[in-house]
Amino acid sequence: MYVDSHNHTSLFSADASMKAGELFLAARSADLRGVVITEHYEMDYPHFLNKELIFDVDAYFHSLSADQASIPSGLSVFSGIELGYQSHLVDFYNQLTSSHPFDSIILSNHLYKGQDPYFFRECYLEPKHIVFGNYVNELTEMVLSGIDFDIVGHFDYMSRYAPYEDPRLYYSDAPDEIDRFLSAIILKKKSLEINTRSINKLTAKGFLDGFPDKEIMRRYLSLGGDRVTLGSDSHDPSTVGCLFRETAAFLQSCGFQEVTTYECRKEIRTPIL
Ligand SMILES: [Zn+2]
Ligand SMILES: [Zn+2]
Repeated sequence: MYVDSHNHTSLFSADASMKAGELFLAARSADLRGVVITEHYEMDYPHFLNKELIFDVDAYFHSLSADQASIPSGLSVFSGIELGYQSHLVDFYNQLTSSHPFDSIILSNHLYKGQDPYFFRECYLEPKHIVFGNYVNELTEMVLSGIDFDIVGHFDYMSRYAPYEDPRLYYSDAPDEIDRFLSAIILKKKSLEINTRSINKLTAKGFLDGFPDKEIMRRYLSLGGDRVTLGSDSHDPSTVGCLFRETAAFLQSCGFQEVTTYECRKEIRTPIL
């Protein structure tokens, strides 16, 4: 019985198509113990979209209170947010999150050299090890930026849109950069998200094994990292809690014994069964 720590709903995330009630029902069907609603807060996003990827945080908390009655018994619903990192937003984000009672905060980097690779496919013209190494360096900068957060979102984000023959991130692609990144997470006592949307996307591309590179996970463990968090990054009900059992088994095979979630910003460890 896991908690899905990463979900978006249509009321507050412009790119989602799932209502909160649909998320709750999907979570029950997936046998989850809880879900965190982590809407996008992507301040100063550099691309033009029909709607901004930010939301009214007070309205979000009001909506969450109003939804309490519709939460199925046995399911816990937690408040969260997914902050989109840019270096000039440290004070802004810290002010935003310290003034609201979030249970958990995901910090993600959706940009590479200032642009989202979803739109900026030319970024992949450089060799894979250069692109992935640069992105991992940006993640390290993000972790050390001073933004108050709990979970590093989808560290394999660049793999999602990479046109390389094998788009997966391997330890051997950028060992020094990955070591610095993992060490920063451990130093700051943050949790590494294992994003099952990334795994799903790789599976959809035909890769039998879309899990993160075992060498990265074992390196994280050997450096002293033991906080890992499961998130489906769902934008619709079909993927809520998807691949959690498989991913938990994968983590166990790497040597992890627990997954980490957050309640009132305090970490909760749950044994992998
Ligand atoms: Zn994200
Ligand atoms: Zn997300």
